[in-house]
Amino acid sequence: MKLFCGTLPGMKKGMDKNRLCRTFLDLVAIDGVTFAEQAVAEFVKKYFSDLGLTVEEDDAAEAIGGDCGNLLVRMEGENPAAQPLIIASHLDTVLPTEKLKVVEKDGVYYSDGTTILGADDRAGVAVMLECARVLVEEGGSPVPLELLFTVAEEKGLFGAKALRKGWLKGEVLYVLDSDGPVGRVVNGAPYGVKLAITVKGKSAHAGIDPESGVSAVVIASRAIANMKLGRIDELTTANIGTISGGQAQNIIPELVEVVGEVRSIEEDRLRRQAAHMKEAFKSAAAEAGGEVVFYSHQDYSGYYFPEDSPAIELVRRALDRLGIETVMETSCGASDANITTGLGIPSLVLSVGYLKPHTKEESLDRKELIKAGELVYEMVRIAG
Ligand SMILES: [Zn+2]
Repeated sequence: MKLFCGTLPGMKKGMDKNRLCRTFLDLVAIDGVTFAEQAVAEFVKKYFSDLGLTVEEDDAAEAIGGDCGNLLVRMEGENPAAQPLIIASHLDTVLPTEKLKVVEKDGVYYSDGTTILGADDRAGVAVMLECARVLVEEGGSPVPLELLFTVAEEKGLFGAKALRKGWLKGEVLYVLDSDGPVGRVVNGAPYGVKLAITVKGKSAHAGIDPESGVSAVVIASRAIANMKLGRIDELTTANIGTISGGQAQNIIPELVEVVGEVRSIEEDRLRRQAAHMKEAFKSAAAEAGGEVVFYSHQDYSGYYFPEDSPAIELVRRALDRLGIETVMETSCGASDANITTGLGIPSLVLSVGYLKPHTKEESLDRKELIKAGELVYEMVRIAG
C-alpha cells in the first residue's frame, strides 16, 4: 500500500528544522564580508529561483562601492487585504572569516576559535530562506510578503541607506538581526549623529618661536578633557573616536581633525549632548586663540515603539503561541531598522538567538535558530 506523504491543500506542513540548520551551515561556509557579498547573494538568488520566485537587485553596489546590491523577493498573499509585511536580514558579516570552520558542541554552533561564526546575520538569512520554502511548499504566503536582504550593514548600514527609492511596499518591517535568546524584541534604538571637528591653531617653530604658535593639539585636548563622554545617561552615549593632526615634533601643530559621535533614544538629549561637545571645543579654542569648525550630521534616525503598538502585538501573539516570553528592550546599537524607520516604515529588530556577535566566541544554539524560524513562520500565519 502506498501511503500519501505529501501536504494536502490547506494543511500546514511547518518548518523543516534540519533543513533550516543545514541552510545556516551552507550560508556561513560562504565568505561574504562587507562590500564583498556577491557569493552569498548568488546563493540566495539560486535558492529563490529554485523556488520559482523572482529576486530583484537594486543599484546599491554602484552607490556604495560594493560587489552586489540589496536583494528583494516579493511573495503575493492569499489574503491581499492583510497588511503586507517586510522581513529583513543582512548578507554581510564582519571579519575575520578566512577558512571559517564550524564546530558543533552539544547542539551549539561555534567557529573553531580562529574566526567569527557569522551567525550575525546568516542566522537571519537562513530563517528567511527556510520560511519562504515552507510557504511555497504550502501553496503560498497567507500575507503579502517582502523579503529584503541588505548589503554592507556592518560597516555603517550602507546598503539600507542606498535602498532603491519606493522599492518597499510593506507597511511594517521586522529585521532579524539581534543577539540574545529568541523572544527579545528591540522596540527602541537611538538616533545617531556623526561629529567631525576641525581645530585650527597657528603653526610656529617649537624651539625657536613657540610664543607665536597656537597648538591645535592643546585646544583639542583641553576640549576633550572638559567634555562628558561615555554613558551620559540611560538613553545617551557619546564618544570621540579618532584624533589626527600635527606635522612634526618641532612644529606647533596647526590643524587637528577629530571624529566622534553621539547616540540617544531621545532626539532632544542627543542635541543637548552634541551642543555640549561643540561648546567645549569652542571655548577651548577661544581661550587659546584658535578656531573650530564643528560639523554634525545625522547618521540615522532612532525609533521607539510603545509596548501596545500593533507591530509588537503581532510578535507577542506569535511568541505566545510558541510558549516563549516576550522581552522588550531598547538598544544602543543602530541597525537597518533605523534606516527603514527613517523611510517611514515602522521597523523592529528581533533576536535570532546568536550570542557574542563580532567575536571569535560567537555562537548559535540550534534550538534558538529553530525557534527564530518558528517565530517568523507564526508571525506570517497570524498576520494572514
Ligand atoms: Zn547584524
